[in-house]
Amino acid sequence: MALKVEESNVQDLNRRAASGCRFCGASLHHTFVDLGMSPLCESYLSADELNAMEPFYPLHVYVCEQCFLVQLEEYVSPAHIFTEYAYFSSYADTWLQHARSYTELMTSRFGLHSSSQVVEVASNDGYLLQYFVAQGIPALGIEPAANVAKVAVEKGVPTLVEFFGVTCAQRLVAAGQQADLLLGNNVLAQVPDLNDFVGGLKILLKPHGVLTLEFPHLMRLMAGNQFDTIYHEHFSYFSFITVEKIFAAHGLTLFDVEELSTHGGSLRIYARHSEDRTKPVCPSVAALRRDEEEAGFTQMACYTAFAEQVKATKRALLAFLIDAKRAGKTIAGYGAPGKGNTLLNYCGIRTDFLDYTVDRNPYKQGKFLPGTRIPIYHPDKIQATQPDYVLILPWNFKEEIMQQLAYVRTWGAQFVVPIPEVNVV
Ligand SMILES: [Zn+2]
Repeated sequence: MALKVEESNVQDLNRRAASGCRFCGASLHHTFVDLGMSPLCESYLSADELNAMEPFYPLHVYVCEQCFLVQLEEYVSPAHIFTEYAYFSSYADTWLQHARSYTELMTSRFGLHSSSQVVEVASNDGYLLQYFVAQGIPALGIEPAANVAKVAVEKGVPTLVEFFGVTCAQRLVAAGQQADLLLGNNVLAQVPDLNDFVGGLKILLKPHGVLTLEFPHLMRLMAGNQFDTIYHEHFSYFSFITVEKIFAAHGLTLFDVEELSTHGGSLRIYARHSEDRTKPVCPSVAALRRDEEEAGFTQMACYTAFAEQVKATKRALLAFLIDAKRAGKTIAGYGAPGKGNTLLNYCGIRTDFLDYTVDRNPYKQGKFLPGTRIPIYHPDKIQATQPDYVLILPWNFKEEIMQQLAYVRTWGAQFVVPIPEVNVV
């Protein structure tokens, strides 16, 4: 019976959201930032594709005047983006460490054991669930990209290949599966049908279960001017206040929250069924809500000011590049991350400014950046060509990169860090 009520709630919310805000359905009138037309940021080109056209989609972000959800319209079908996803989580050592310490924290805080059930939505290649499996705690992954899910299964992590939502959750419950710990890292932003997704979480969670989600924090994105982390693959950008509203509408209460340094500043939220009184709401919840209120997150002016800051960054970066080129300097890029593609396409920076970029990932070497078609080489190219400036595209790793590339100082080169503001060091 309870299941029926939740289902009709999701259908109501969905009906409203069909033509406007992804959560509340209000029509979208206010621009958060308009980054123009851009290709999908992970669509690297090979040499034989250079004579073909590329699809470009608007990267126009709105903010809802009712619930303040910052969002992109759904320009690209999620099936197109996610069914053969190239990102394998296990490639990043720091990310694996993060996953391992999360599993230890959850196991001790919530007393998980051999008869508990852990379920991860968007479980990728099993990078996280493998640590629960190693502890003998039953784990199930749900992952829409078949090629990535296959790697998880080979590691011993049972994985269903599908998109998560109400239908998937109902089928699992009917088969006798519900979660003591339900988690999703870096998936909430990528969900096109937000109400169906959160409605599914509500259904799959056991009566006293715990739900945790991690996602980039809008307050950090804005404070750090991280507009280059806006991609077509990220449909929504969340403040704590808005995410709390969305979960409350689905009968879920946030009872704790942590601020993490991952992805330029993320939140880890802890949720439970609203009717589950066994877990009191921690002071962290009211504290973060108050921080956001004080920063203006319940007023439209706070959001609409962001666009001007982004335009100022574009002007400053172009002014630097134009001056450098007029002075006859050479400029190389470092890195070929998705965020670099948003930045370069928005600013219109091609090989007229940046001779090339380099990346340590062998899959990207020999390819070209989407849209700007800047060639990607092995990092040795920097030593061979001795550019005057190195533009660091993955600015979140700038310290590490400047250390690795300290040798460029021998010929007097300088680093250019574009975000949060253009800085030459
Ligand atoms: Zn809304």
